[in-house]
Amino acid sequence: MGIANAFTVDVEEWFHIAGIHGLKRVSQWDRYESRVVGNTMRLLDIMEEKDVRGTFFILGWIAEKYPGLVKEIHKRGHELGTHGYDHRPVYELDADKFRARLRRSVKALEDVTGEKVDKHRAPSFSINERSAWAFDVLAQEGFLYDSSIFFGRKDVGGTNHPLFFERSVFGIDTPYGRVIEFPLTTTTVLCKNIPVIGGGYMRAIPLFVIKRLIKRLHKDGVPMCLYVHPSDIDKDRLVPSGVGIRKKFNATVGVKRAEKKLRKLMDQYEFCTMGEIVDQKGLLAYKRLRTR
Ligand SMILES: [Zn+2]
Repeated sequence: MGIANAFTVDVEEWFHIAGIHGLKRVSQWDRYESRVVGNTMRLLDIMEEKDVRGTFFILGWIAEKYPGLVKEIHKRGHELGTHGYDHRPVYELDADKFRARLRRSVKALEDVTGEKVDKHRAPSFSINERSAWAFDVLAQEGFLYDSSIFFGRKDVGGTNHPLFFERSVFGIDTPYGRVIEFPLTTTTVLCKNIPVIGGGYMRAIPLFVIKRLIKRLHKDGVPMCLYVHPSDIDKDRLVPSGVGIRKKFNATVGVKRAEKKLRKLMDQYEFCTMGEIVDQKGLLAYKRLRTR
């Protein structure tokens, strides 16, 4: 068997797209058609069929609204993490606001499962040089694992800061303890750092290219951190009105073939939860990043 890779899911609605001002207000969200339950159930069925267990980062707003969905994900043996409460990028918050959202979202999950939540993924990969203080808050709140750093994707909320550059799992030391970071998978093509596997990138990049890029990472012993959204496999994907051409393209490119592609990836590679990967001690070639 080859290298084990993390299969991660960001459980949110189709309208949780970063950087759309009109969609920031939670009070308006009930006006939109909800598609998260149906799409997540389909994804769960595919994963069950392919015997893949993954880590589900669930938005607190979703967990409060659909506790039955949280229960189902948990029941099927997947790992739970939080995706924050209302999908506000971390760099738009301060430590207190971030903490309040974190606590509310964690409570919604723990109320259902009774198990401690210690994994986090920031909405829109929004932990970067402007919001590195978030690691202090995460450590204070008892989080051991994070998967929010997306190097080279400043356009979607990630970072270009060299301090955050790392391909594989690494440790972040805070005054309150260590947080293990599993960054989103990127690789270098023609001197540019590009994302390999997740969301719109997974849908847009041809499978043979994805395979080639993953082969290169695996040769270096680097596991991939794949991420999908329930709406990535929604053949009738909705797009909020008023979004620009680029965001519309990102939201809809390849949705018709996404499920098939995902199935092929599941056949081709070994996937497991993020916790299982970071628990394999040999993998933890730490790069230490200090938050202050
Ligand atoms: Zn998200």
